[in-house]
Amino acid sequence: MSLNPIRKLWHSFAVRLSCLYAAAFTLSTLLLFALLYLLVTSFYERSELAIIEARLKECAAIYQNQGLAALRDAVRHTEFSRTDGPFFVRVTGRLGSVLFVADPGDWTRFNASQPAAEAGAVPGWSRVPKDDRSDYTLASMQLRDGSILQVGRSTNGAAAFIGPFLWSFLLAMVPTLLLAVAGGAIFAYRATAPVREVVRTAQKIVNTGNLAERVPESQAQSELAELARQFNRVLERNQGLIRGMREALDNVAHDLRTPLTRLRGSAEFALRQDTADGAREALADCVEESDRVLTMLNTLMDVTEAEHGMMRLQAARTSVRGLLEEVTEVYRLLAEEKSIEIRTDWPDAGYADVDPNRMRQAFANLLDNAVKYTPEKGWIRVGLNGDQSCVRVVVADNGIGIPVPEQARIWTRLYRGDKSRGQRGLGLGLSVVKAVVEAHGGTVSVRSEERQGSEFSVELPRSKEPG
Ligand code: ADP
Repeated sequence: MSLNPIRKLWHSFAVRLSCLYAAAFTLSTLLLFALLYLLVTSFYERSELAIIEARLKECAAIYQNQGLAALRDAVRHTEFSRTDGPFFVRVTGRLGSVLFVADPGDWTRFNASQPAAEAGAVPGWSRVPKDDRSDYTLASMQLRDGSILQVGRSTNGAAAFIGPFLWSFLLAMVPTLLLAVAGGAIFAYRATAPVREVVRTAQKIVNTGNLAERVPESQAQSELAELARQFNRVLERNQGLIRGMREALDNVAHDLRTPLTRLRGSAEFALRQDTADGAREALADCVEESDRVLTMLNTLMDVTEAEHGMMRLQAARTSVRGLLEEVTEVYRLLAEEKSIEIRTDWPDAGYADVDPNRMRQAFANLLDNAVKYTPEKGWIRVGLNGDQSCVRVVVADNGIGIPVPEQARIWTRLYRGDKSRGQRGLGLGLSVVKAVVEAHGGTVSVRSEERQGSEFSVELPRSKEPG
């Protein structure tokens, strides 16, 4: 899907993030400004009203003590020389006729015929709502003789006071907003760099099939840097798994070829037989070969299951010595055939929470190898010891030993040592041991020297249940 550059830009996470950031910034600044504006205007209006009311009281006192003429004189002579004035002053008689008016502005706009009482004047103090003279803030009072005194001041002062405030805010707002958008965009672009790297790497892997591609990692501790690191770890693991699968597949194909060729040979031989006995014998060979193939496939699947933590274990508190006794008994006969002596040393019953069948299989594989790879008149030692936290089984022999470069590879599926080719085996015995022991939370290790012998150790967590 190809998008035009503008749409592509809009789909960019960094651009959206910075727009969102700018919108949030503008909104919060406007809110702050609105709040400030309300506060300033209400403060201004309150102080304005206080001034007007003070003047109203003054005028009322003059009117009530000295009469209308005194008020007129006082207003005419002093109004324009006052520092807080000039004020609008109007006296309306009881019947609604204007008795006196002094309007510092264009007073003809004032509807003189409108009775002040209708404009909201009530006995006592009250703020007259803005009437047709809407650019005046007015206060009125009913005087003792029933007439209404109104005093007001032009609201132009408010506009003059708040106007510059509004303008300077707008002037400051525009560059601040531009700066915020630009800063936000740069910040968002830089912050999302690891995401773009992850996308670029994923695309490269998809396009070239090169599983070795990695995202450049940084030392930063942010979540996105962590994302890049974890993404690389996933790639590493996948690469290892895929390599392992390829190798296993190659090995399986290679190792299946021999038994399947033999199977085919036996089947052909069976077909050529004239007698039933001959055919039966050849078919028995076929069954034997197919059993071999089946065993190999089943074992492979077991190992795979164990390696992926999917091996079903029926673990129970088991005496490891009991298992070793059983297995040793089975191999004693085979060993005697080669005049190999089996020495046992198991002072401890060694209880561990294991699946007895799986564990018996693992120990049997170790003993089977020991018998296989020890020449006649050799010895095998099966020991059991350990400490408070683990049970350690040692199967040692004085056989052919394992060359150092091979030692790391013997645990791999289908791997067979160079010198072992002459012996029966599938190269799966030790991978089963490792998979089963690790599925039980244990570890395996080997110490060996060529022509001197080998020592395999299995460590299992000791059972915590009391004996
Ligand atoms: P297999 O015995 O079927 O070849 P294993 O997985 O049991 O496969 O063992 C892998 C390789 O490790 C063997 O081919 C052999 O070379 C080596 N090995 C295992 N046990 C011993 C041992 N006790 N002495 C010498 N070599 C051994």
